[in-house]
Amino acid sequence: MAHARTLSILNQPFDFLSKDKRFKSDLTYYLSEGLDGPEVLNTLFNLKVTIFGSGGGGSIIALQLANLGIKNIHLVDPDKIDTSNLNRQFMFNTNDIGKFKVDAVKNFISIRNRDVKITTSIKRISNIADAIEEIKDSDWVFCCMDEPPYISQRIINRASYIKNVPSIYGFSSRDAAKLLIVRPNITGCMDCLLASEDSPEFQKLILSFQKSNFSPVTPIIIPNMMLETSWIVKKWLDQVIKDNQEQNVLYRFDYNVLREEKFISFSKQNNCPTCGTKGNESKLWKIIQIH
Ligand SMILES: [Zn+2]
Repeated sequence: MAHARTLSILNQPFDFLSKDKRFKSDLTYYLSEGLDGPEVLNTLFNLKVTIFGSGGGGSIIALQLANLGIKNIHLVDPDKIDTSNLNRQFMFNTNDIGKFKVDAVKNFISIRNRDVKITTSIKRISNIADAIEEIKDSDWVFCCMDEPPYISQRIINRASYIKNVPSIYGFSSRDAAKLLIVRPNITGCMDCLLASEDSPEFQKLILSFQKSNFSPVTPIIIPNMMLETSWIVKKWLDQVIKDNQEQNVLYRFDYNVLREEKFISFSKQNNCPTCGTKGNESKLWKIIQIH
């Protein structure tokens, strides 16, 4: 267990530890957290992260990861920038309307970080094979996509399980953000969570989403979006450098009281269609079918 320290005595002079002047303050942060600062920075420098979704959530998460020192970031999003994005997706300006989101995010981050390598894909992910192609060689996968309900999350969850890559899922709503961290063969997965919530009412809710013709607009304003993305990245960072978080929990962060809670605790399900060993014939998997 790491304890915060007000003063760190280093084994080596500071200049020997700092490989990169940009990260001097990060180094002292990790050291004063009782962590091995150079080791943490090396870990972060060497990660490759794939982010599905370059909207309000994915774009800000990409910026934060680049500023933490992650040098390889892969962005996946088929969408172009629309006027309605500009209120909360501050990386985009009116000159970007009609451009691909991944290109605008790459441009915004690249001119601030010369050594970050950003690759992009405008593929619309509709099956597991496509997702596997995007996450190959990745150490972590972020899923920052909203629609349609749970299908993209299920596809990315399955692909990450097959490739044995840990993944993290963010969900936005008006009053709170939610977050799930999945480590294949260690924790339960997205399908385990869905299986634990399975009921006729839950199935009815998903069916009603699918049958409706309206295209839902995420009810979020930028202060909440900034809280959400910072919370997600901090939870992820703690997972990567401290590895001491509770598993099999859907976390919720309430924007009004600024507090995190364990929203749903679930267990790894034996009959999970992704990571279980027994078959599962629930109607749920036909409703949110993935290929
Ligand atoms: Zn599972």
